[in-house]
Amino acid sequence: MKKILKYLLISIVSVFVLAACSNSQETNQGTTDNAKNDEKLQVVTTYSIIYDIVKNVGGERLEIHSLAPIGSNPHEYEPLPLDVQKTTDADAVFYNGLNLEAGNAWFDKLMETAGKSGENAPVFSASKNVEPMFLTTEGNEGEEDPHAWLDVRNGIKYAENIRDGLIKVDPDHRDIYEKNAEVYIAKLEDLHQKAVTRYNEIPKEKRIMVTSEGAFKYFSEAYDFQAEYIWEINQENQGTPNQVTRIVDIIRDKKIEALFLETSIDPRSMEMVSRETGVPIKGKVFTDSLGKPGEEGDTYIKMMEWNIETILNGLK
Ligand SMILES: [Zn+2]
Repeated sequence: MKKILKYLLISIVSVFVLAACSNSQETNQGTTDNAKNDEKLQVVTTYSIIYDIVKNVGGERLEIHSLAPIGSNPHEYEPLPLDVQKTTDADAVFYNGLNLEAGNAWFDKLMETAGKSGENAPVFSASKNVEPMFLTTEGNEGEEDPHAWLDVRNGIKYAENIRDGLIKVDPDHRDIYEKNAEVYIAKLEDLHQKAVTRYNEIPKEKRIMVTSEGAFKYFSEAYDFQAEYIWEINQENQGTPNQVTRIVDIIRDKKIEALFLETSIDPRSMEMVSRETGVPIKGKVFTDSLGKPGEEGDTYIKMMEWNIETILNGLK
């Protein structure tokens, strides 16, 4: 009797185990199929501005992990273990390119660690087809300047490249990405027109931007400004005595009346320039980062609108 019971018990357990196995297999396959239809696409972006454009084009379809935190400098970033995990698991990665994420080769190293460095890896540069502008200071001559997004026409190219990248990794939802991109690009076209009109209110001779980093090259070409800076690009030597002397001379020569400070840059160098020249800092502008959620400039469109008002108030 005991033996029979034991046998029965083993049989029952076996049946359960088998059932469980086949069940879990079915569930797993079910999940894989669903992933294509319902589960969110896992996306990684390198910094807040790309994050926002990706969010606008991908909408509810995406779960986005953004690397360099809001308010920080995306030129140099130390990826955390979570970033490596998210990048490894990502269906797509979007970065700026044009040398932005080049400091210490952090981006290339991360892609390699996360197994996303091959030619066919789902890694997309948002600045594809942007006509690059180049750095001119000694040691950096000929390197691409990354700050293309400060010309809204380039922001439109970013949206198109992001749309195409999403369609490539998730072709089943092409319609969603095309529709979202169309709506968003129409808003960016309005924003560009608004920028042109508003900046034209500033007399041409007053249209000079002085910022800490020389982030306004593309901007200046688009909206007919001159751009001056303390240092040309964020890297190790920022605000050296030579750089400060150079910009102080330029400010005096050109009789510049307003300075601007970036939200994502240590204010001390620009404050020193302001003290040396007696020229006031007329406001904070967004260049390499959005504002914090719920605060001023917390989307690409809002940061550009904020810049329009701040620059207009400062220079008119
Ligand atoms: Zn920058």
